[in-house]
Amino acid sequence: MRKTIIAGNWKMNGLRADAAALITDLRAKLDGNTDGVEVLVCPPFTALATAEERLKGSAIGLGGQNTFWKEKGAYTGQISPSMLKDAGCTYVILGHSEPRGRFGVPEPDFTPEILAHFGDCDATVNRKLKAVLAAGGLQPIICVGETLSERQAGNTDSVIQTQTRAALDGIAPESVPALVFAYEPVWAIGTGEVCEAGEADRVCGVVRSTVGELYGESAADAVRVQYGGSVKADNALDLLSRPNIDGALVGGASLKAGDFAAIVAAAPERQSV
Ligand code: PEP
Repeated sequence: MRKTIIAGNWKMNGLRADAAALITDLRAKLDGNTDGVEVLVCPPFTALATAEERLKGSAIGLGGQNTFWKEKGAYTGQISPSMLKDAGCTYVILGHSEPRGRFGVPEPDFTPEILAHFGDCDATVNRKLKAVLAAGGLQPIICVGETLSERQAGNTDSVIQTQTRAALDGIAPESVPALVFAYEPVWAIGTGEVCEAGEADRVCGVVRSTVGELYGESAADAVRVQYGGSVKADNALDLLSRPNIDGALVGGASLKAGDFAAIVAAAPERQSV
């Protein structure tokens, strides 16, 4: 039985005082209320220390929003997996569409040249995954997702398969069952336009079957696949009840304690608690 995992991606939101206040509110709603569900928040790097302090004694986990594949050195502005662990993280998001330079809501001042240099591509996601697994102690959440034009061209499945295969290139079979993927259609991120639950379930199944083709059925059965993209309290139950959707990666709605707690409460495991 795969355990549901609900992650809050705060993106570039929140000063330390905001992070402290949000965690206080979240704990008031979630402490003692997360049985059967893994819950975590991913604040900006600058708020990790505050978040770690405020999460002491809570079952809510802490994650980074990105990392770099080198352990240390002349890599200005980068954060290594061991730095994330040192900051109290036990999770890390890899290959989110925004650092890949793929945005659901167009950013008119980001020219093609700027987008091309935004950061991540399939090869860097693969290097980052290898570095995270080598470091140990961090649960990677690997994001894959198609843009609107890729979907409209009928390329959703091939994009998802390509990104999934590229992320896993050279990853040892024993590491795979514990991995978490997030299917995040780029066109649904931050747009309020959620992917229809049946279709989200189908594409999460594409991630799973791609893992199966590479590593076999038991690995495919074991990996968890979240859905992300405009998950809200009112659509969470429909999404989370689907057989291939093992959780949610939540952006905007994770910034409000009540909304995020309602999404956690919608997890099927919570329905019977
Ligand atoms: C995300 O950033 O991972 C995300 C899914 O954002 P939102 O929930 O705001 O669409």
